[in-house]
Amino acid sequence: MSIAEISARMDRALADAGRPKGAVTLIAVSKLQPPERVKAVLQQGHRIFGENRVQEAAGKWPEWSAQFEGVDLHLLGPLQTNKARQAMELFSTIHSLDRPKLARTLARLADETGHCPKLFVQINTGAEPQKAGVLPIDADSFIADARSLNLPLVGVMCIPPVDEDPLPHFRMLREIGGRNDLPGLSMGMSDDFETAIAEGATHIRVGSALFGARDY
Ligand SMILES: *Cc1c(COP(=O)(O)O)cnc(C)c1O
Repeated sequence: MSIAEISARMDRALADAGRPKGAVTLIAVSKLQPPERVKAVLQQGHRIFGENRVQEAAGKWPEWSAQFEGVDLHLLGPLQTNKARQAMELFSTIHSLDRPKLARTLARLADETGHCPKLFVQINTGAEPQKAGVLPIDADSFIADARSLNLPLVGVMCIPPVDEDPLPHFRMLREIGGRNDLPGLSMGMSDDFETAIAEGATHIRVGSALFGARDY
């Protein structure tokens, strides 16, 4: 599906929800996609991309960022503290702030460099043991602690369990964001972004619907 087709579906979902056009940012998730597909989307004029791994992003994006003006990279996957410095240089926004140690590392590096990407706190809304993210019950105190470190928090993010209805997860995320004064809601992927938009998503992360299936 082209950027134009995804955008048309976003506009329709926004209109159905009574939300203004442009209220949602489309993050094109380019992880594990062949270069020619990513370049095709760059050539369609899109500039906001999401990657899961620092290493993969560092290997391919510097060249494309030099070629296409205004590239804006978002990190969506788990971040190891030993890659934090590199991530802070590559990404404008990190969607996966998920533990105190990472918060402390980012705060220390931000003090040192005078720069910090915008941050979403990842919430493990399904409380899945294998999944990254702060448990819903710990969300408020984690957010308060991150704020006390002066980190630039902009929102909350979730990845609902694969085999569940995403709706209650989107609603839970919106509640957590709302009661913590975090307006950004990073939720909704290829199969459910219209539902996420209906529930107030501000950032949707769309990979396979845009690029086709990933090559693992
Ligand atoms: C891969 C990934 C996506 C995109 O998934 P699709 O189903 O291909 O749209 C979105 N968010 C995160 C965190 C991902 O890892």
